[in-house]
Amino acid sequence: MSAILSAEHVTRRFSPRITLGDRIAAALGAKVDRRPVQAVTDVSLEVRQGETLGLVGESGCGKSTLGRMLAGILAPSEGEVLLSGTAPMRGKHKTTTRIQTVFQDPFASLNPRMRIGETIAEGPITHGLVTRARAPEMVAEWLRRVGLDPAFATRFPHQFSGGQRQRVAIARALAMQPEVLVCDEPVASLDVSIQAQILNLFLELRQDLGLTCLFISHDLSVVRHVSDRVAVMYLGRIVEMGEAARVYAAPRHPYTQGLLHSVPKLVLDSNAALEFRPITGELPSPLSPPPGCAFHPRCPKATELCRGERPPLSPREDGTLVACHHA
Ligand code: SF4
Repeated sequence: MSAILSAEHVTRRFSPRITLGDRIAAALGAKVDRRPVQAVTDVSLEVRQGETLGLVGESGCGKSTLGRMLAGILAPSEGEVLLSGTAPMRGKHKTTTRIQTVFQDPFASLNPRMRIGETIAEGPITHGLVTRARAPEMVAEWLRRVGLDPAFATRFPHQFSGGQRQRVAIARALAMQPEVLVCDEPVASLDVSIQAQILNLFLELRQDLGLTCLFISHDLSVVRHVSDRVAVMYLGRIVEMGEAARVYAAPRHPYTQGLLHSVPKLVLDSNAALEFRPITGELPSPLSPPPGCAFHPRCPKATELCRGERPPLSPREDGTLVACHHA
């Protein structure tokens, strides 16, 4: 499968905003840390035609920042984002219709004063994908495809439940006929039963439409459900990337192993017990990443080598990429 969207050595730094709290602290003589935060460091990956790449990691690991760079919403500080058939995109490229996004909070991403029929039709009309005359038919078709009654086109966002609003957000994104869909925590704000419905809808649409997708989630079980390949992020870098079935069956990186053991799992044997060994400690601040392997303060296998030298992301015999001295 060829790459349709890729990141080449992308890094993203954020300059901290000066808040009122900072001003007050400075006026009182306190030291305020003004260093830029590096959320993503030197990441390269590709999303291949027709696949779903899952991007997983703890909150604050940089996965949403990476997703926003790939979606063209944020410009990388260094490196390039490449969309097949176009020149490298060093800045924002949100003007393209070829990449569409679905975010965690559909209510925030829908205009509360716009009927959802108009919300779905607005982009395709603006970009010449449908005429005004054909728009109602197109809206009805997309509402049906995401499991909503076409009559709902006249309703406003506040008249829908969270799950229904996420269906609207998916319909709006797909009506733009994107080549790549970037989903950032699309089910994180929903109840578990609704999460399952939205994930099943996503799987159906993926199969019917042959979607290419970057699926970002902190939830390993969600990513496992939908992904062909998976990339695991820790403190702004990819630490393991490979076929999802392989990574879940035999994770190599101690962080991936820790994430999998952090999910409570019922063992259905005679001793029915919970196998639950969470990763200890907190994700370090990106302002002061640990030297060497950034995971070493939390890693049960850390050695002197780990504390002094950062392991490169390098291929193993089965094609999986792993950043660990001892895996
Ligand atoms: S390089 Fe060392 S500290 Fe880092 S994950 Fe591997 S074993 Fe653990």
